[in-house]
Amino acid sequence: MLDKVVIANRGEIALRILRACRELGIKTVAVHSEADRSLKHVLLADESVCIGPASSAESYLNIPVLIAAAEVTDAVAIHPGYGFLSENADFAEQVEKSGYIFIGPRADTIRTMGDKVAAIRAMKEAGVPCVPGSDGPLGDDDETNIKLARGIGYPIIIKAAAGGGGRGMRTVHAEANLLSAITLTRTEAQTAFGDGTVYMEKFLETPRHVEFQVLADGEGAAIHLGERDCSMQRRHQKVVEEAPAPGITMEQRMMMGERCAEACRRINYRGAGTFEFLFQDGEFYFIEMNTRVQVEHPVTELITGVDIVKEQLRIAAGEGLTYSQDDISWTGHAVECRINAEDPKTFLPSPGTITQYHAPGGPGIRVDTHIYNGYRVPPYYDSMIAKLIAHGDDRAAAMARMRGALSEIVIDGIRTNIALHQDICSDAAFLAGGTDIHYLEKKLNL
Ligand code: ADP
Repeated sequence: MLDKVVIANRGEIALRILRACRELGIKTVAVHSEADRSLKHVLLADESVCIGPASSAESYLNIPVLIAAAEVTDAVAIHPGYGFLSENADFAEQVEKSGYIFIGPRADTIRTMGDKVAAIRAMKEAGVPCVPGSDGPLGDDDETNIKLARGIGYPIIIKAAAGGGGRGMRTVHAEANLLSAITLTRTEAQTAFGDGTVYMEKFLETPRHVEFQVLADGEGAAIHLGERDCSMQRRHQKVVEEAPAPGITMEQRMMMGERCAEACRRINYRGAGTFEFLFQDGEFYFIEMNTRVQVEHPVTELITGVDIVKEQLRIAAGEGLTYSQDDISWTGHAVECRINAEDPKTFLPSPGTITQYHAPGGPGIRVDTHIYNGYRVPPYYDSMIAKLIAHGDDRAAAMARMRGALSEIVIDGIRTNIALHQDICSDAAFLAGGTDIHYLEKKLNL
């Protein structure tokens, strides 16, 4: 097993990684900004290193300093968590060139999957279904682009190849707006991502977001852990996730999961990963792959019993996969609510000191959080402060447990979106299952 791991992240995921390391007997190094000295995992880690000022650019995104932290502590590997540098191919490359293990895929895999055009091409070759589209970057010829869009049929969406985090996309409903939309998206993409490459896809009007979790050893073995539904979104940000996805049959699960696993085998994928699809009228359409552990991984853990972070560590240590596909089964249903420090109505961040925290509990309840009484939520980072996860024998039981937990949890001193979650978890259409990715924004009248 790995001897010592640097946790290059903060908040709940840093604590989650620390706990997995501890179970496997791995020593931990917490790295933190000046604003994060009192993070729970920093207090629990075997060692900690201050890596710079509050600003992420100077701390959690500072590659040389992170590698130096591994050096001075004699660590052997770096776990990037999610967000920050987790999908940065240059980081992965520099970590490995400096002689440390990057807990994630090889740099070239991250690079391919970070370019959406290249990712779609790779997935098509592997037999994964994609959204009908331009099959590559758009050229400069207006006539060709007009013809392409007519062939696909309106509405269409123009997307930046280098886009991410819901940015770099523009929907076009009629031909009159096509050329200006292409120009605008290109310019924006050049400014935001330093790459003006754009492509075209059919815009699906009422899709759900369904994604498949995979694990692969980097030497050609890969399995899938089934799917999650993350359709409850606001501004392309997930708010509630669940597993399994309502209405997906075991046959669909095994068929799509196997295609994703096969795609991993073909590219010798290493580590945990997620294939994201839009799902509409019974069909799956690949949109992108995430080459890291995801925020919503616990819902899969609760219904499969697989500890995804421990698997990441084992794979990185060269121990291979603990499970074969036949070992994987799915029990019951799990749902996750992302609790954010934000105003429930305006969604503006609400940093500050947590004066009182009471955790919910009881059968089937899991809380992944770094908060405690007196913890000060800093204003500099993502506003997610906790993930509340409920597991039950079936979807109705999981939802009932979630409603109970939401009524028990107390977080005072700052504003949170707990009320929004209470609203969602008693919403008739959501409880019926199968609401699409636009449902929440419509419900909120946005
Ligand atoms: P990002 O990397 O920015 O997250 P994605 O390609 O994953 O970008 O798309 C983010 C979201 O944008 C999707 O979850 C979906 O809500 C919407 N979207 C993307 N492509 C399409 C499409 N072809 N049709 C309809 N909605 C889309």
